[in-house]
Amino acid sequence: MKILVLNAGSSSCKYKLYEMTDQSVLCSGLVERIGDPKTGCLTHKIAPDTDKEEKIVQESVFPNHNEAIRQVINLITDPKKGVIKDLKEIAVIGHRVLHGGYYQTEPALVDEATKKTIRDAFPLGPLHNPANLTGIEVAEQLFPGVPNVAVFDTAFGMKMPREAYTYALPQDLCKELQIRRYGFHGTSHTYLVNRGAAFMKKPLKDFNCITLHLGNGSSLGCVKNGQCIDTSMGITPLEGLIMGTRCGSIDPAIVPYIIKQKGWSADEVDTLMNKKSGLLGLCGKTDLRDIHKLADQEHDENALLARRMLIRSIKKTLGAFFFLLEGKVDALIFSAGIGENDALVRAGVVEGLESLGICLDAEKNATRSGDEREISSKDSKIKILVLPTNEELQIALTSQEVLAKSKA
Ligand code: AMP
Repeated sequence: MKILVLNAGSSSCKYKLYEMTDQSVLCSGLVERIGDPKTGCLTHKIAPDTDKEEKIVQESVFPNHNEAIRQVINLITDPKKGVIKDLKEIAVIGHRVLHGGYYQTEPALVDEATKKTIRDAFPLGPLHNPANLTGIEVAEQLFPGVPNVAVFDTAFGMKMPREAYTYALPQDLCKELQIRRYGFHGTSHTYLVNRGAAFMKKPLKDFNCITLHLGNGSSLGCVKNGQCIDTSMGITPLEGLIMGTRCGSIDPAIVPYIIKQKGWSADEVDTLMNKKSGLLGLCGKTDLRDIHKLADQEHDENALLARRMLIRSIKKTLGAFFFLLEGKVDALIFSAGIGENDALVRAGVVEGLESLGICLDAEKNATRSGDEREISSKDSKIKILVLPTNEELQIALTSQEVLAKSKA
């Protein structure tokens, strides 16, 4: 069975075509600068990350998503370099959709009601949902007869209990404006929980873990019996940890204070908190590799502070989730750019937690690898795992499941 995964952004579109029998990637790619009247770029890879990888780059103008995906189809079905002969070979198309709004708790086969759900959530995901819907509508036109599945990034967090997702604001206002904790990176957390349970050979229903998706955007998931019971991001991906350019949780009174003192608009403060804060606001850099360089080679005070604050913010949330699970944790799962690669941050987060049964093996932690691996010491009661995340594969797996259920 072949499954196409599409992630349509406002001016870009990523795709991956899977052969699900062995979960191999037949081809993948990215169209950038869609809508730019001067130039766009399509990068297409056949058999990516294998020794047969072949890369095709097309510089061209892509006036809209329809034209961009048309070009992708030409490459996928090209008589010489194509990986399929007919679009009908694709069993289902899985779409990443950021926000499912207040009522959508599960991934869904796309019909008019699903599209309305995505449209209704435009105010909650103004940057992503319109583009995600465009991707779906274009797929409906260009792949006639192939079903589409919407995989919502919020679905993981929709399983949280009410006391976890409710904000202590007047509840009639929350209902009116659909204000609740949704949580994001849901597809990644779902993948990590499933892989973590498989890695530890535990049934999902008995698996408790804390997932640490640490990248440019970061969030922690708290998982009891295979289900999310809390997550660090909120109604938007701004809440929670300090991130590359996002401030994470701050005293909300800072917002009206800045507005009053500086005479700024709500949008200006929103931009400040989402684009100019976090590690960038603290030390002028967003990439931890640059921050390590500044901190360790130049002893830059701001970089040292940013690094300490990042580790502290992760550790505080980890502690809260550890208590919510009453210490009954099978594994801590590190993932994404920082979680998979940054031994120093991982070591900092778990430092001094030996009395809680969390013991790092320093050598394993320092060994670089792209594989799924355990980095805790033999006697660690709680396992510390590093699992590379794979959101596209999770979207493909979820789409396969939704398709099977729809046919049952
Ligand atoms: P992501 O958003 O998951 O792509 O993660 C991006 C972040 O991961 C970057 O900003 C870096 O700080 C970090 N990162 C990526 N690769 C490495 C690496 N090899 N070593 C340390 N940090 C890394």
